[in-house]
Amino acid sequence: MVKVDVYFFSATALKSKDSLSKVKGPLSLEYLGFNKKIKKNDKVCIKTHFGALENTRYLRPAYIRFLCDYVKEFRAHPSVAESCGWGLPGSGGEYGGRASEEEYLGVALKHGFTKETMGAPILMLDGAIGIDYEIQKINGKWFNEVLVAGRLREFDLLISAAHFKGHPVTGFGGALKNIGIGCVSKGGKVQAHSGKNLTRNFEKCVNKCTACIDICPTHSLKKDKNNKIIYNKDTCKNCYMCVSACNEEVFQREKIAREQFIEHMIDNALGVVEFFGQDKIFYLNYAVDITHQCDCSGGSDTPFVQDIGILASKDPVAVDMACVDLVHKSPALPNSCLDGLDIPERDGMHELLSYIPRFDYENNETDLNINAKYQDFWKIQLNAAEKLGVGTKNYNLIEITD
Ligand code: SF4
Ligand code: SF4
Repeated sequence: MVKVDVYFFSATALKSKDSLSKVKGPLSLEYLGFNKKIKKNDKVCIKTHFGALENTRYLRPAYIRFLCDYVKEFRAHPSVAESCGWGLPGSGGEYGGRASEEEYLGVALKHGFTKETMGAPILMLDGAIGIDYEIQKINGKWFNEVLVAGRLREFDLLISAAHFKGHPVTGFGGALKNIGIGCVSKGGKVQAHSGKNLTRNFEKCVNKCTACIDICPTHSLKKDKNNKIIYNKDTCKNCYMCVSACNEEVFQREKIAREQFIEHMIDNALGVVEFFGQDKIFYLNYAVDITHQCDCSGGSDTPFVQDIGILASKDPVAVDMACVDLVHKSPALPNSCLDGLDIPERDGMHELLSYIPRFDYENNETDLNINAKYQDFWKIQLNAAEKLGVGTKNYNLIEITD
């Protein structure tokens, strides 16, 4: 069975020449052959996550700044990129602060990502309000089309600079999530979370309300002379802001199981890879500050394992699998969410990601999992991605020590 190389740079840095940010980040790209692929004047997208407001465990800006500086050594042009979160701009709540370019750049500023700190432009890959996308046809498990974030079209190379950490729904977040959620449009995120089947029952519309009409950026909703909503699907850009704006039961999204959401995310990842080209994508997973929460969480717990380092590969499945294995070879930290749980050993590892707190769909809240129930959601994304051909779980871990 063919194995893919995954380069591992430990977080240990006893001397400044070992720094994870300035030295090992750029070096990991070099091991992937980035220096041979890049050409003068290339436009390079560095996709990371700026963190939701109040999250404090997102990747430190310095990690990304040194990648920008490295790209510029080749007289190429880096940009630091994210994409709009779903929901309504100005709506607050869990996704508040990330629903448009204007407000997400405000969060980025508070979190230390500016064009000055990066030495490079910062942009939203799906445009100012998340409706800039390209439709990529795929042969996915659930989707045959993916709404790939449109501004990827402007770039020659893509560096996925992902924060590897736990995740309450998908088990973990790494390279696959950075592209499968992070590199699709606002609507692509909604479709991952709740499918493409949206029911519009305009019979339930309230006469005096115009909220969806007012928010629609493409004027695809109008009322006729009888106050009945007319929807123009030809001009609709699938932002789902009308759905978020409506307080009645007019719009009904699909209710899907967790497994299906994860598989949607992987279908999206396939779309991004097929759109951009796997040979032009370089995956760096920064396995540091490994909490049980996603960077889109408004809070940050203490890490449950020690910092591991940077893992780098040309294969998003292999790099995520290698990170999972290194987490599972690590001891759980005291005072973390896993402290005191009786986690059995399996094949010489403790599957810590199977015991982190998880989102409980039935009760619509986080289950801290104090009874240590085993649930290996992390396997679903890896297995789905391998099955679709996004990459392979078989890897050679090559630790770079000098
Ligand atoms: S109809 Fe709804 S989903 Fe379509 S563009 Fe307008 S607000 Fe967005
Ligand atoms: S937001 Fe809902 S209730 Fe208001 S006009 Fe639109 S569909 Fe009707």
